[in-house]
Amino acid sequence: MRDTNSINGWPPKARGTDDVSPSRPRSGGSHPYRAYLIYPEISPATNRHRRKTMVNKQFITAGNAIFTVQSKTGQYYTYRITKKEANGNYKEAHFASVLTGPDNTSDYTYLGLLNTEAGKVTLTKSSKYDQEATLYKVLNWALHHIWADKPLPEGYQIRHEGRCGRCGHPLTTPTSLDTGLGPECIKKVE
Ligand SMILES: [Zn+2]
Repeated sequence: MRDTNSINGWPPKARGTDDVSPSRPRSGGSHPYRAYLIYPEISPATNRHRRKTMVNKQFITAGNAIFTVQSKTGQYYTYRITKKEANGNYKEAHFASVLTGPDNTSDYTYLGLLNTEAGKVTLTKSSKYDQEATLYKVLNWALHHIWADKPLPEGYQIRHEGRCGRCGHPLTTPTSLDTGLGPECIKKVE
């Protein structure tokens, strides 16, 4: 299966862009110093902190982790990492898959095996994608940031699955994660 959703610049280059922490100008602020004092969390130093990934290693390896990686252009992929406990001759294993259909509870396609030491997914014989697939590169780009506890570039996000505030259905799209409501439920609460 080829991944046809690739766009230029996604994932972003691993080096050079990550550590830039531009100070975000406050909109409508004719009193910049006053705004700074009232909203100290927007200072460049803490702004960097706020852009750190929201998920960590413990979450990814917990057994049934679902998370969405979003680029600054709004493109996103949703991944699932499931754990299989050690059994007989088989060691504990973490399987990575990617959401490829409309049902975010079941439409996952196998991607590869997660090496929990390295924070990297490697493809196996059963993988449906190759090394060049954007969704594969994006996953390892995200895992690299999580394992290294590195801030993401401005505009990029890694978020764990949410639940609809009306019906409890899992939420995985950036829009739904922003609002906390699924696409059907948001129409009903308006
Ligand atoms: Zn809902």
